[in-house]
Amino acid sequence: MAEKPQPVRVLYCPICSLPPEYCEFGSDFDKCKPWLIQNVPELYPNLLKEANERGVDNVADKLQNTGISSGVSGSAATSASKQEGVKRLPGGKMKKKERQEVVIEKVIRNKRKCITTVKGLELFGIKLSDASKKLGKKFATGASIVKGPTEKDQIDVQGDIAYDIVEFITDTWPDVPETAIFFIEDGKKVPAA
Ligand SMILES: [Zn+2]
Repeated sequence: MAEKPQPVRVLYCPICSLPPEYCEFGSDFDKCKPWLIQNVPELYPNLLKEANERGVDNVADKLQNTGISSGVSGSAATSASKQEGVKRLPGGKMKKKERQEVVIEKVIRNKRKCITTVKGLELFGIKLSDASKKLGKKFATGASIVKGPTEKDQIDVQGDIAYDIVEFITDTWPDVPETAIFFIEDGKKVPAA
């Protein structure tokens, strides 16, 4: 007999009103961070780790500096495009066209095994074999070129590197602008910048 019913775990961030796992794609991730650390630390282990080492406020600053938004010079432009990106989430259908962009998707296989797929680097003149090697080395993991669902080559990287990969790509291949990098989250394309 269960005396205490389990609380229903449908949680929305009170700051940006997104489900907490989407906070980092919202426009106010910095403001969400303290709440995230307190309420859903398991979603953002890095935040928690740093919060234990420093104060919460410092963490927000630190992450801002080292996180996905680093390397961007115009911060006003960045937050503008973030907001626009969130509002413009496509209704599900995605038009197929050959835009020059890199698309990153985290795929969970067998519940525990996570793979980060990277598509589109070749559109920037990057050799995939070279990119695959660099990604594997940088993240100390396995990376290989595989045929994606549309018969196009993509790179599969073992593990969840989705949040470090943007910085790595823009550092390694300056021809790829951060604005051309996207994540697929629940079937929706979300700009990384
Ligand atoms: Zn939030």
